Amino acid sequence: MAAIVPDGATPNRMTASLSINSSELLDWYDRSQRDLPWRRPGVTPWQVLVSEFMLQQTPVARVEPVWLDWVARWPTPSATAAASAADVLRAWGKLGYPRRAKRLHECAVVIATEHGDVVPSDVETLLTLPGVGAYTARAIACFAYRQRVPVVDTNVRRVVARAVHGRADAAASPSPRDLEDVAALLPNNGDAPRFSVALMELGATVCTARAPRCGTCPLSVCAWRAAGYPAATTPARRVQKYAGTDRQVRGRLLDVLRASDSPVTRAQLDVAWLIDTAQRDRALDSLLVDGLVEQTADGRFALAGEGDGA
Ligand code: SF4
Repeated sequence: MAAIVPDGATPNRMTASLSINSSELLDWYDRSQRDLPWRRPGVTPWQVLVSEFMLQQTPVARVEPVWLDWVARWPTPSATAAASAADVLRAWGKLGYPRRAKRLHECAVVIATEHGDVVPSDVETLLTLPGVGAYTARAIACFAYRQRVPVVDTNVRRVVARAVHGRADAAASPSPRDLEDVAALLPNNGDAPRFSVALMELGATVCTARAPRCGTCPLSVCAWRAAGYPAATTPARRVQKYAGTDRQVRGRLLDVLRASDSPVTRAQLDVAWLIDTAQRDRALDSLLVDGLVEQTADGRFALAGEGDGA
């Protein structure tokens, strides 16, 4: 397999590093961080949580306008909990993976009813919330509550694989070792939360998967660069395609339902995807199973909560 050729890179035979220089990383972050609305002063833990739900597998540029509308409309867990499931699905718009919207709504209900409308701050309690997994729990504890916890996403795994371990990419699957690695890299002071977000930012904007910009990297020591950019030993990850997938068909069906304020007929849904009727049926079945769509007694279809009981 061919090695990735980093942009502007000059192979450097320095000894591999087992740490990341926090001053270099933090100085760079202070100069270069993107102005993302969920990082601004005054953003609440709930609003950070909403951003983390939306950012799972979805680019920042698509999340930004939806997040801004969302937090203006539903600034607290209880405000979100009071919204109907259908309104939440409509507000989710075209972000994709709409089960996240349903889980976010469920999460809002639990926080509003069981946690006094306050997002829990400790990782263990966060992990009990609907839709909150290992990454999201730590991201909220770190970004919203400034705790020293390792936050490990795909970008962070890649930076650590390169800068610390001298490999072209992270292992194919996450492992507990990733958390241990990042925990060991965190500064032992109040800079730890900023270090975490800076590491993530470096992976998102400089140490990218396909074209790392080593020529502008703030890290003076990187084990992969020091080793002369050895080729990856694991197969490159495939970029997930969207066109023609069941995800696309589900999105088309949901578009029809979002646009209607009353249940629609099967014929109205059928025209949303004429290419493959079996695929369309499968997509509709999965939406029903996921609880995103419901069927009325007279056989029509509606967004969750807008069927017979609405
Ligand atoms: S950490 Fe910096 S030097 Fe190392 S591979 Fe990534 S961009 Fe290049």
